[in-house]
Amino acid sequence: KAKSGHSGHHVYRSADNSHGATRLRTLQELRIALTEDQLVLHYQPKVELGTGKVNGVEALVRWNHPTRGLLFPDQFLAMAEEAGLMHTLTQVVMRQALDQAAVWLAAGRSLTVAVNLSASSLVDAELPVRVAAMIESRGLPASALTLEITEEFLMADRDRAREILTRLRAGGIRISVDDFGTGYSSLAYLRDLPIDELKLDQSFVFPMADDARAAALVASTIDLAHGLGLRMVAEGVENGVAYDELVRYGCDYAQGYFICRPIPAADLDQWLARREI
Ligand code: C2E
Ligand code: CA
Ligand code: CA
Ligand code: CA
Repeated sequence: KAKSGHSGHHVYRSADNSHGATRLRTLQELRIALTEDQLVLHYQPKVELGTGKVNGVEALVRWNHPTRGLLFPDQFLAMAEEAGLMHTLTQVVMRQALDQAAVWLAAGRSLTVAVNLSASSLVDAELPVRVAAMIESRGLPASALTLEITEEFLMADRDRAREILTRLRAGGIRISVDDFGTGYSSLAYLRDLPIDELKLDQSFVFPMADDARAAALVASTIDLAHGLGLRMVAEGVENGVAYDELVRYGCDYAQGYFICRPIPAADLDQWLARREI
């Protein structure tokens, strides 16, 4: 049975008993993919609302599978997590994203690259040291990297999260709370954790144009962020109506198909060049 995934591709769930064997093969292939550079990054710009100025890009992982074509995160991330491969995947993604940031810097573009960090990264006490070394070895400023974490990351172990985030942030890396509003967590962490930015989940942004209560929720959340000195990014901006509303509410940044889909770095360079004309 096939159902449509959120970004238009298909997610297959098979009920027959060949499923286990398929899974095992995919897992073996994923291990190979991690060592043979089959993972690629697509980049989606984050623009300043109102001015349209490109502030940064988010790196989103894809698997360039030798026979199945381009696979999306919902087709392999959960498996990577279960198999304990997330640590390696994060390393691979971080390396590629920072290599690309260095290419952009050399070309005279100072783009902040945002990398998604799964909650399992929290167990890695050496993360701040390793990330700092990766940034430094490429001659990048720490402001070249933003880490997107989830509320799950923050809640799993508050003290540990605080310690790791404080160390990352002391180095100059920015911290963004992804999927904000979906985590069923206490808002108290907004007061006492070292973060820079909230990313309002797309599920709040989608209904905004046709639903006054959804719009009120978005507007209030933007005010909440500003009251706490945090920047607000809205994701899933799919049309001009949503974009204009967000401008009116004073949202800082936006990401979404209306602005640009996630695309390979070479395509993003062309997109940026076209906008600069
Ligand atoms: P996310 O971090 O919340 O990323 C936003 C997702 O929404 C992306 O899906 C993006 O392609 C999609 N999107 C962007 N604009 C729009 C829009 O206007 N409308 C709609 N409907 N969708 C939009 P994608 O690339 O399939 O990634 C899914 C999730 O996988 C991400 O959600 C993130 O949680 C995870 N992910 C992606 N790359 C990585 C990675 O390198 N490491 C880790 N740990 N997680 C990743
Ligand atoms: Ca994200
Ligand atoms: Ca998100
Ligand atoms: Ca998400």
